[in-house]
Amino acid sequence: MKNLKFYTCEYCYKEFEPKRRRVQRYCSNTCRSKAYHARKTNTLTTSKSEDIAITNNDNSSQKETMSLAGIGNATAGTLAADAIKSLLTKESNKPATKGDLTQLLEKLNGRYHLVKNMNPNIKGEYPYFDMVEGNVVYSPYNN
Ligand SMILES: [Zn+2]
Repeated sequence: MKNLKFYTCEYCYKEFEPKRRRVQRYCSNTCRSKAYHARKTNTLTTSKSEDIAITNNDNSSQKETMSLAGIGNATAGTLAADAIKSLLTKESNKPATKGDLTQLLEKLNGRYHLVKNMNPNIKGEYPYFDMVEGNVVYSPYNN
């Protein structure tokens, strides 16, 4: 991410050397079309970002949202969080502005993502992956 020659793929977060600068946001056609499909589905389930009380009762579309963001489990979530940091520091290495972060979180469909393969904690709260801090937080909301 320190090398200005490289872009970070917006879908798989791999670094790649763009063939056409400025316009190329994905490392491959595969990622580009996957991201396209992801975006299409995304608009259906997008709620206000930063809103931990995810107001989506439809389980199946929530699952889709999860895979869209590339977060099937906490490990993948960690990867995504690292990728965020590298995205935020790409190109000029300048620190991320609040606007950058908000934009990114919108892309990821919000800051908090329910972790499906973890059980609620002792208080019955549900685990969410915090995309900003890169850790798991608990919230009483589960929809
Ligand atoms: Zn890619």
